[in-house]
Amino acid sequence: MTARTALILVALALAIGAGSFASSAAQAAEAAAARPESVAAAAPASADRYPVASAARVGGDDKQTRFVVDLSQKIDIAAFTLANPYRVVIDLPQVTFKLSPTAGEQARGLIKAFRYGLIMQGGSRIVIETKGPVRVDKAFTLDAADGMPARLVIDLSATDRASFLRNIALENHPARAPARTSAPAPKDDGDPRPMIVLDPGHGGIDNGTKGLDGTLEKDVVLAFAQSLRERLEASGKYRVTMTRGDDTFIPLNERVRFARAHNAALFISIHADYVPRKEGTAEGATVYTLSEHASDAEAARLAEAENRADVIAGVDLTAEPDDVANILVDLAQRETKTFSLQFARSVVSEMKNTARLHKHPLKSAGFVVLRAPDVPSVLVELGYMSTRGDLKNLTSASWRARTAAAVAHAVDNFFMRRLAGRGARAN
Ligand code: ZN
Repeated sequence: MTARTALILVALALAIGAGSFASSAAQAAEAAAARPESVAAAAPASADRYPVASAARVGGDDKQTRFVVDLSQKIDIAAFTLANPYRVVIDLPQVTFKLSPTAGEQARGLIKAFRYGLIMQGGSRIVIETKGPVRVDKAFTLDAADGMPARLVIDLSATDRASFLRNIALENHPARAPARTSAPAPKDDGDPRPMIVLDPGHGGIDNGTKGLDGTLEKDVVLAFAQSLRERLEASGKYRVTMTRGDDTFIPLNERVRFARAHNAALFISIHADYVPRKEGTAEGATVYTLSEHASDAEAARLAEAENRADVIAGVDLTAEPDDVANILVDLAQRETKTFSLQFARSVVSEMKNTARLHKHPLKSAGFVVLRAPDVPSVLVELGYMSTRGDLKNLTSASWRARTAAAVAHAVDNFFMRRLAGRGARAN
């Protein structure tokens, strides 16, 4: 079913009456009530099952660098390199990371920084960003012995770009890309209500930005998306699904594919921004739409930062199929742009009353997740993790509920207007 058919059907459903919505709202509320319990029951048991990484060390210099992680047991690993930017990726079975909160932030030897986390169910990953081209001399794990814990050891040495690229070509890594997470296109069950896809940014190995108190963007945006989902579902007017409902990594293109596969009538990506202290302060929410040319320097910087998610997670960008790029720019895309902008304006005007807005709250830039040519898409930056007042809001349940209600109003306005627009055109 196309988005257009969905809208016509929803118009019919609206004409028939509100009775059916009341019952679906009750069902939605029931489903929402059932969810948290099952999640809570499953979580603690599964966390203990996995090997634990308890500490990480880097030693050496700009010629040779050793990277060591202490483990609770020996595990199988696979290491490979990626270019643009230079990275060493270590794939592991699922591991519980108990490293210090600042682990990986300090540069040493050939290593610029490293990140770690879940890349898919059952699989963890460490991504080391290197200062230049490197060669993986050794990659192995050791059993515990002589009072030392089990360890993962990676030895790197400096090399030149030509050798680095030659090594990549020779490497054989069958499990290079994270597993495709999107299920096959859902069965159309005849539900005429518009499908809204919520997209909490980041997840798994990609933490997003980090607040002054260590709060992670990936957690803040997931909590907000869940709150918005409950709000929208409770109205009974929409079907709602999320690109992720837990702490897993989803590549950017996969999020776009997910929205298209679900015939989304609206795609809302949720993020929280960060400005380094030396670049001054900023506060409030900003709503972004897609454009090739960023509306200002700040928007360009942000899009670049958000588009780095795949780099952080060790996705091989050269191997990523870009199915969206091949779609012809046509009227549908122009219409999508208009609808995206209409919705963005509506979000700004609703949020004005409940949340703090950025001084220029409506902007555009080249965000990868907004590139579906046939799904109106916006990206909401809820506020700044680097600003004390915003961070307090972002971690407050009552702020979350109020702001989710404002965005839900904007969704209502958007669909009312689209239906009205269609009626006018038919006359
Ligand atoms: Zn983000």
